[in-house]
Amino acid sequence: MPAQFIDGKQIAEQCRLETQRQVAALHQRTGITPHLAAILAGDDPASQVYVRNKEKACAKAGLRSTLHRLPANVTQQHLLALIHSLNNNPDVHGILVQLPLPGHLDTVAILDAVTPLKDVDAFHPENVGLMLQGRPRFLPCTPAGVMRLLSVSRIPTAGRHAVVIGRSDIVGKPMAALLLQKGADATVTVCHSRTPDIAALCRTADIVVAAVGIPHFVRGDWLRPAAIVIDVGINRLADKLVGDVDFDAAVGHVAAITPVPGGVGPMTIAMLLENTLNAARLQLKHEDSAVS
Ligand code: NAD
Repeated sequence: MPAQFIDGKQIAEQCRLETQRQVAALHQRTGITPHLAAILAGDDPASQVYVRNKEKACAKAGLRSTLHRLPANVTQQHLLALIHSLNNNPDVHGILVQLPLPGHLDTVAILDAVTPLKDVDAFHPENVGLMLQGRPRFLPCTPAGVMRLLSVSRIPTAGRHAVVIGRSDIVGKPMAALLLQKGADATVTVCHSRTPDIAALCRTADIVVAAVGIPHFVRGDWLRPAAIVIDVGINRLADKLVGDVDFDAAVGHVAAITPVPGGVGPMTIAMLLENTLNAARLQLKHEDSAVS
């Protein structure tokens, strides 16, 4: 049976249209337009593309966005001062620090400085803790995008064995947490660079999520015919982008698979828009409760 192609681009577009509708309704009710402030330090070409795509997506959905471009040699102090001013600016609802930051900066300290109420990437420890306890304020964009792809595609996770490859704070760890949480109810195995025989683990998986950063890491013969394959990887080869899964080898015999590009990537941006809308709502609620 040919694999079902999970079209992230199309599902992200549906999500964006819904966000656009809700942004317009919020504006009509309150006069407020959700506003995302993005910070880009340095001139990493991939980061420039990501930030541009996020700005375009905001504009399409009716959100405001402002880009703060900083030179590669920006000081920690300067960047922290910018974050503090955005934290205190009631006109800004979401703050995004594009990673990776130049090497001389302390990324952890900078991400921790973003107020949790505007932390639309959900990297702040307070938001990570809330997510782990199953009462999220914001969900991290890429893992949330994967969960949405699965739910919109009517792919059940309950009782199924999910193998997540990668344990980064941004993708692998929160991905495992979301699959494990009540409601998703998967049985989760997390693999990483020190895990022996990942191939054998994948062969027992109903769902494989690859977030490694190595082109074609997951081979076709690692995957069961019934497997659902979610490829988070974005790897730049000379002339194209490829994922972490050998798509051509897998597509013939698995049950469903996401392409790269056009799979998880657009969903990450769609979830960022939703988080920014939710951040605006949250801040309104806080203002209301401060007044009453
Ligand atoms: P990372 O480098 O922070 O983490 C990679 C993980 O892979 C690590 O936990 C490491 O243990 C594991 N790993 C490395 N080599 C391995 C090996 N040989 N065997 C098993 N595990 C190994 O990367 P990340 O930020 O988690 O991103 C992973 C990939 O996903 C990258 O290609 C990145 O570009 C992509 N990404 C895509 C999106 C999106 O929106 N689609 C978002 C974020 C990241």
